[in-house]
Amino acid sequence: MYTKLASAFLVLTSIVFIAFVYQQKFKKPDIIHIHAGFLVYKDNIQVDFSKLEYMSTIPCFTDKKDGLTDENVQQEKAHLHDGIGNVVHVHISGARWGDLFANLNYPINYENATGFINQRKIINFQNKTIEPYETLVVLIGKKKDEGLKQEKIEKGYIVKVENSSEPCGL
Ligand SMILES: [Zn+2]
Ligand SMILES: [Zn+2]
Repeated sequence: MYTKLASAFLVLTSIVFIAFVYQQKFKKPDIIHIHAGFLVYKDNIQVDFSKLEYMSTIPCFTDKKDGLTDENVQQEKAHLHDGIGNVVHVHISGARWGDLFANLNYPINYENATGFINQRKIINFQNKTIEPYETLVVLIGKKKDEGLKQEKIEKGYIVKVENSSEPCGL
């Protein structure tokens, strides 16, 4: 009796577990559209991300959920548009700051980087979810003037960028 019950229980939990794994694997990511500001200083000199090489050229998938592949899910997490190098566009919920620098092909040695979000020093800022209208300031290189944490991408400017963004306008 007990053995039967036990095996029935085992079968049931296995089914639930497999269903859960299956659902996680094939779950479509949540599509959002938020913006935040960022500045990177190498030896106290601002890195220019407004160059063409840092711009996203693939069309946005803001309302084309079915067109998402694993590769463009990563790209859609965080990228730049319109030659603007200090406002990140986020289209996938839960995107982290590290996703931005990975997608920009701009490797940062996080061990030797200092990050501030809204003027507050954040340990492992690369793992933090990008929140709307916040500003990330990253200091890299040998010289790091922590006073640069005061630099801010104003919300009004970010709103302007999001309203005028052609490829992924709301
Ligand atoms: Zn976009
Ligand atoms: Zn956008």
